Amino acid sequence: MNRTPIIAGNWKMYKTVGEAREFAGVIRNHKLEGAVEMVVCAPFTALSALAEELKGSDVKVGAQNMHYEASGAYTGEISPGMLTDLGMSYVIIGHSERREYFAETDETVNKKAKAAFANGLLPIVCVGENLEQRESGQTKENVREQVIRAVEGLSSEQAKQLVIAYEPIWAIGTGKSSSAEDAQDVIGFIRSTVEDAFDSQVAMQVRIQYGGSVNPQNIASYMGQPDIDGALVGGASLAADSYLQLVQGV
Ligand code: PGA
Repeated sequence: MNRTPIIAGNWKMYKTVGEAREFAGVIRNHKLEGAVEMVVCAPFTALSALAEELKGSDVKVGAQNMHYEASGAYTGEISPGMLTDLGMSYVIIGHSERREYFAETDETVNKKAKAAFANGLLPIVCVGENLEQRESGQTKENVREQVIRAVEGLSSEQAKQLVIAYEPIWAIGTGKSSSAEDAQDVIGFIRSTVEDAFDSQVAMQVRIQYGGSVNPQNIASYMGQPDIDGALVGGASLAADSYLQLVQGV
């Protein structure tokens, strides 16, 4: 099974519209030899400009969150249909920062994953253990629960298109990346969890990224692992030259 690796930048709360346009100007002519899918997930305010700047390029644009309802009295929220309307391809769901600071739960993650597919968006569902769970040997148990809850009620066809990002929380933004072998161990386990939830065909097709202090220097070590299909990258995705080095490092 040939899964196309996917490098997704997660800009978090960085970049003005002008800065996003500038970034797009540098990367938009980068042609892939079919080997990698390039995605940039930006703040809501920059999405429209990015979609415009990257139209016709090999780079896809994604959001970092959304509401699961189609519309309603939810002040400050953005619906899945609004993202489709902007030409978005992807949406990050359940990032650990959203789980920690914005009360995202396995239940809202599941609702959002379903809403993404219903609106033609591909979800990048984030899972991962915190330091305490890692140190007490609960990494796999925790990640299994998050994955099973996230995919509940998805069809096999949907699940095959899903992207899962395994991001150990202790590795995010800390410079302390997981070793490639440890990441492979958990990601292989996530693939077998997907097989339990669906079947081996789905498990072979679902793409699973590693995330947490990935940079141009360590990307190749992750890509050398059999079950790691790319990376979700925060800090090192903010500069266009670094982003391109990540894509070239796959
Ligand atoms: P980082 O962030 O690459 O800065 O560690 C990753 C993420 O939060 O997705």
